[in-house]
Formats: sequence, C-alpha cells, structure tokens
Amino acid sequence: MRKIYSNNNVALVWHVKNMLQQQGIEVEIRNDRLYSVAGEIPVSECMGEVWVINALNYQTAERLIGEMELLCMPEFDSWVCHACGEEVDGAFALCWNCQAAPTGQTSDISD
Ligand SMILES: [Zn+2]
Repeated sequence: MRKIYSNNNVALVWHVKNMLQQQGIEVEIRNDRLYSVAGEIPVSECMGEVWVINALNYQTAERLIGEMELLCMPEFDSWVCHACGEEVDGAFALCWNCQAAPTGQTSDISD
C-alpha cells in the first residue's frame, strides 16, 4: 500500500480513485470520515487519501494523475447531477458522487 494522492476536495479524491480503477489499478480511499459515511454523500470539506494497493502500480498511477491534472483545467462550467443533485465540477465527465453522466450526454472519458 502506498499513498498516491491526497486532497481536501473530496470530489477530486473520488475522481482520482474512479479514474485509476478504470485503468485497472486497485486503489482504496482512506479517510476516517469517509469510511464512517460510506454509502452516503461524503462531507465536502475533509481530507481524503487515495492509496495504491499494489506498489508496482504506483508509477503508472502517478503518471495518470499527472495527465488528469493537466486535463482538469478549471474553466468548465459546473453542472448539477440529475440523479443525486450534487454539483459537479465541469472538468468531470461523471458525477463524483454517483457516477451518473450529465443529462443527455454519455461519458466521454477516453484514453
Ligand atoms: Zn450524482
């Protein structure tokens, strides 16, 4: 286990986790408060950590996160998830909370 990412923006932490899992990298989110509210809406202002389970994936994960950060320019308008009502940063193609795509759009995450 090795910590790859931490941020007090829980939306970004979840985004990193989902992005890495989509790349086949096993990760885990660590945060006592997140654990305690598992399955509920995470508290928006608490530090979350993403840990890579297999340290062999660390470098790949680091590269992917670096690419993600380059892509995630904060110039997009945020959108409100039609499924759960959370506000989602416009840089995210899927809702950070429930992974729903924006209304009328399909996920355009591609690699
Ligand atoms: Zn949602």
